[in-house]
Amino acid sequence: MGKRVAPGATQCYLRTVFTGMGEAMSEPEREAITPPTEAAERPEQGLDPQDWSELERLGQRMVSDMMGFLERIREEPAWQPMPEASRDFLRAKAPRGPADAETIYREFREHILPYRLGNVHPRFWARVMGTGTPLGMLASMLTAGMNSNASGLECADAHVEAQVLSWWKTLLNMPESTSGILLSGASAANLVCLNVARDVAAGGNVAEEGLGGAAQRLRVYVTRETHNCVRRAMALLGLGNRGLHFVETDARQRMRVDALAGALRADLTAGLVPMAVVATAGSVMTGAIDPLDEIADLCDEMGVWLHVDGAYGAILAISPRLGPRLRGLERADSLAFDLHKWMSMPYGVGCALIRDAAAHLRSFDSDAAYLRQYEKGTTAAAWAFHKLGPELSRGFRGLPVWMTMRQFGVDHFARIVEQNVEQAAYLAEGVRKRPELELLHEPELNVVCFRYLRPDLDETALDRLNGEILVALQEEGTAVPNPALVEGKSGLRCAIVNHRTRRADLDLLLDATVRLGDAL
Ligand SMILES: *Cc1c(COP(=O)(O)O)cnc(C)c1O
Repeated sequence: MGKRVAPGATQCYLRTVFTGMGEAMSEPEREAITPPTEAAERPEQGLDPQDWSELERLGQRMVSDMMGFLERIREEPAWQPMPEASRDFLRAKAPRGPADAETIYREFREHILPYRLGNVHPRFWARVMGTGTPLGMLASMLTAGMNSNASGLECADAHVEAQVLSWWKTLLNMPESTSGILLSGASAANLVCLNVARDVAAGGNVAEEGLGGAAQRLRVYVTRETHNCVRRAMALLGLGNRGLHFVETDARQRMRVDALAGALRADLTAGLVPMAVVATAGSVMTGAIDPLDEIADLCDEMGVWLHVDGAYGAILAISPRLGPRLRGLERADSLAFDLHKWMSMPYGVGCALIRDAAAHLRSFDSDAAYLRQYEKGTTAAAWAFHKLGPELSRGFRGLPVWMTMRQFGVDHFARIVEQNVEQAAYLAEGVRKRPELELLHEPELNVVCFRYLRPDLDETALDRLNGEILVALQEEGTAVPNPALVEGKSGLRCAIVNHRTRRADLDLLLDATVRLGDAL
């Protein structure tokens, strides 16, 4: 067999094929799959508990502990470093023998839960991280109980996810014929969207033929504010970062449409192929929203695919007050956004929507024999999600989304979004009021970057001092902002997508920043 064995998962499949083609199984191979008589006499076992009621009681305690934990999360530190003992504990080798669930749960409470990242805390504002909800937690448990593989076989999961997708198409003003899939997050959603855009731009059959020379000619238009996941997507899609064209931004970090137009024209003249413009709705550093409607006009005129990364910003669409700031979003050819950020769903769930459903299917379709579909039975799925993305097996991500959206209704989520934007304005106001602090940009949305300032310090010293303040805020458990860098000035950045944050939490952050800055 040796030289014919393909690596990884295809190995078993190929073995079946090759042995079917006449090569006999070797003696050790046969032995490995034929149980010796002694083994055949062993009692059969499974993984269910011996004492169901005992595990059930533990489960009830877990639910009640976690509810109490979330209810009193405000009393906890926002973050704390993991002590050496716990690090050591987590270096133990794979267990060959059993341990009881009670012990394992105790270990979870001792070594894992206290050293969580902390994005459930009211004063966690790093990156752009959602907070989650208690019902979302319970829904995740129900999902795990069903342990569905939501690859798109005929069962309720597919209908739930299709309904969730349909809700979002409507909320984002995209046509119902738009194709969509729930993925692990916006990085995966951006990748899937750009995969389809690439295949359309390259023409031919990329899945079969590969990219060939097209890889050198395809261009994707971004700005310096575009999220890093787009760079990664370029690498994964075989285009490389050299295929990116960085369009200049205006004073508010938004893509300049005149510069984009110039770049598109120049590239077309040079024989290059514009594959997609990636516009951002809610940039990660400052919350900037590219001028979507004007970019859409230009993309229409030039026949270029418009992709929007709306990881958290697309959620503004549900607010009657803030939604209009996304004008043009509904014209996107593809849109990636997250549900685990501003929609507070348990990690990880994001969504890709692609206007041209046929193109979406062409990129990921598969005709493997084991994926054959019939009119009835489990294979009769109306939504074969495994044909719309890179995954075959998928967790049932839609259930927590479905349950939590039903629980609160969209209007309540809209109020949370508006509240976070108001809180960002409040935070910025608090920065302006304190002479020790400097605002690094006017907040566009829910993101505020600022720094501690001392007249006797130069830029390098300020950079160092603000880094020390950041780490101290985190290590004393007060709050978790993350590093900001705006036009060369570094400081602290807070992105508020946190339904637990109250204005008093922001006062506390500012007071602690000044206290630490004065002391350090
Ligand atoms: C968070 C974010 C992403 C990546 O999303 P993940 O869910 O973390 O994969 C992409 N773009 C923007 C603008 C983001 O804020």
